[in-house]
Amino acid sequence: MPLAAFESRRDYGLGWAVAGQALTPFEDIADNPWGPMTEVRQTPVAGTETRIAIWDDAPAFHFALCDSMLDGKNWECCLRGFFKKALAALEAETGLTIASAFEHEFLLSGNDLPWIVPFSVEQIRYVAPFTADLTRALIAADVGVETVEPEYGVTQYEVSCAPAVGLAGADRAAITREVIREAARRRGFRASFTPKPTPTSVGNGAHVHFSLVDRKGANRTYDAAQPGGLSKVAQQFAAGVVAHMPEICALVAPSPVSYLRLGPHHWSCGYAAFGVQNREATIRACPSPNPKKRAEAFNLELRPPDATASPYMVLAALVFAGLEGIKREMPLPAMLDRDPADYSEAERRKLGIRALPSSLGEALDLMLASKIVCGWMPDTLRESYVAVKRKEIAMFAGATPEAMCKRYHDAY
Ligand code: GLU
Ligand code: MG
Repeated sequence: MPLAAFESRRDYGLGWAVAGQALTPFEDIADNPWGPMTEVRQTPVAGTETRIAIWDDAPAFHFALCDSMLDGKNWECCLRGFFKKALAALEAETGLTIASAFEHEFLLSGNDLPWIVPFSVEQIRYVAPFTADLTRALIAADVGVETVEPEYGVTQYEVSCAPAVGLAGADRAAITREVIREAARRRGFRASFTPKPTPTSVGNGAHVHFSLVDRKGANRTYDAAQPGGLSKVAQQFAAGVVAHMPEICALVAPSPVSYLRLGPHHWSCGYAAFGVQNREATIRACPSPNPKKRAEAFNLELRPPDATASPYMVLAALVFAGLEGIKREMPLPAMLDRDPADYSEAERRKLGIRALPSSLGEALDLMLASKIVCGWMPDTLRESYVAVKRKEIAMFAGATPEAMCKRYHDAY
């Protein structure tokens, strides 16, 4: 809209036909209950307005995130609203909320990028005009950028931002991804966050670091005297997440291509397991190297998510699953100090380590078989989500993994 009209749009935003919720990432729309009827108002969220005016060859990149509002409330299928509900449930039960920070891994392509040694100085300096713009843009977007790094895939990079409390954690992730894409475009690259650029390449994860914080903002995740340094409430929360991980994979790793990334030995995670500094676990506890910040900086990392999942959906699933652990006072799972794939099947069974699903179809079946997970979502949200996901599965039923990777690479 013209900038002059923005003020007049603050309260009722713009209309949006809700069938759009049933769009796949491609050109198709899944069966949905709405058809041509019903619209929600995409209403700008105060504090998310982002304006980056550092380019001469394009207008300022200026946008705001929106809530999908219906009759003055979040529409039942609005994922930002879904995450709000999760936060409210956690707060009501414990008085706590969650602070979170995503790690954004992505692949650059275009501009005839040559093969470059991964993790190298060459990898970061070769694209220095891009990283310079990106860093400026992320600072302008006020997302708490901490690092812009080369990753261990060929032309793979990673951006990490500081944690933000509550809804802002997901808002920050959504903004950061769009800013990365824009900075890449302006320099003639494309940034893709697809979980698996090709069947054999290194995957792009969207790991989430999180901690439980109280109303004053104090971190309640740490207790030096407890196993792994996890406070009682954090142990229960982690237990709830690990126990439900196979059932929430469809929400946090939600694409057929996600299952080429998830799996043992990919540093993504193949098992529902827990460990301190264990990068093959579902939840990795991350102690601070700074003794003065042990309690303040202690956090847990959820490793299975990828960026084909909405950050709101990821955090809602995380919070609901963790809360389940708190309500049922679940004990901390076995603390693994090696790759869960290195145990025998019998040892894993004894330790209570379950494998994650190996396809989106299997993940959806597990989710739908869980009364608990289904209970978190309004029926319409669950049914329309599953319809989109089943459509994606059908689209690639006869495709080669290479062709599927290519489409997701281009779409995400
Ligand atoms: N790229 C890996 C993934 O797909 C993660 C590598 C890392 O530990 O940063 O999750
Ligand atoms: Mg990484």
